[in-house]
Amino acid sequence: MKKLEVIKVGGAVVEDPVALGLFLDAIAANPHDKVLVHGGGRTATDVAAKLGIETRMVAGRRITDADMLSVVTMVYGGLVNKNVVASLQAEGVNAIGLTGADMCCMLAGKRPVKDIDYGFVGDMKKVDGQAIARLVEAGFTPVMAPLTYDGMGGLLNTNADTIASEVAKALAPLYDVTLNFYFEKSGVLLDPSDESSKLDSIDRAQFNRLVAEGVIAGGMIPKLQNAFAALENGVGKVCISGTKVTL
Ligand code: ADP
Repeated sequence: MKKLEVIKVGGAVVEDPVALGLFLDAIAANPHDKVLVHGGGRTATDVAAKLGIETRMVAGRRITDADMLSVVTMVYGGLVNKNVVASLQAEGVNAIGLTGADMCCMLAGKRPVKDIDYGFVGDMKKVDGQAIARLVEAGFTPVMAPLTYDGMGGLLNTNADTIASEVAKALAPLYDVTLNFYFEKSGVLLDPSDESSKLDSIDRAQFNRLVAEGVIAGGMIPKLQNAFAALENGVGKVCISGTKVTL
């Protein structure tokens, strides 16, 4: 099977033009077929503040009311996505930006309200791996914004790590998929303040233990859960590493 890399790049890199440029240089030099996924939460928070819209977070997760949905649609689907696409084009990579509504490639359902009403947040129902693969086979590099489609004319906000994991799973029957999460630390760290304490590998048992010990916390918990979900659903390999690497 042909190799394909699903590459998720975290907010801190996407939102820093210098870091993004260096990162995309490395991406462009990677010879395998690729699908990129990006975040952009910090820019969404900044733009919302400029528009006088308050950002509300519960347990590290954004509450997406109607105004915030407009902001994330503009920021993720517009500003961030098109900047990544334009930067890739400058590197000679024929990128095409997509939300879940484009080709109906990522269909989701609005998250049911239990204890917390997250608002217009989508839980993924189906990724159309065939549609994404058609673009790859035509020579394009899809760049996915973290926006899913509700099937009824609306967009929903979906966590970018989840998008990366779900896209990787959907492409796994068609390609030998590696899922890469690039973010601001050098990897999964045993001591979050020591970049050299990076783990070479981790399994679920070790993950559960390190979460219980408080070593793995915050955004790293859902990132690793997404990583394990991908591995358990046909994805060959998951790498979690820093952006200051040559791909
Ligand atoms: P992203 O930058 O991809 O959006 P998140 O901010 O959601 O990623 O999650 C990564 C964050 O998790 C890191 O920046 C770090 O602050 C935190 N973290 C918690 N525990 C660890 C750990 N053991 N190793 C690395 N990062 C950790």
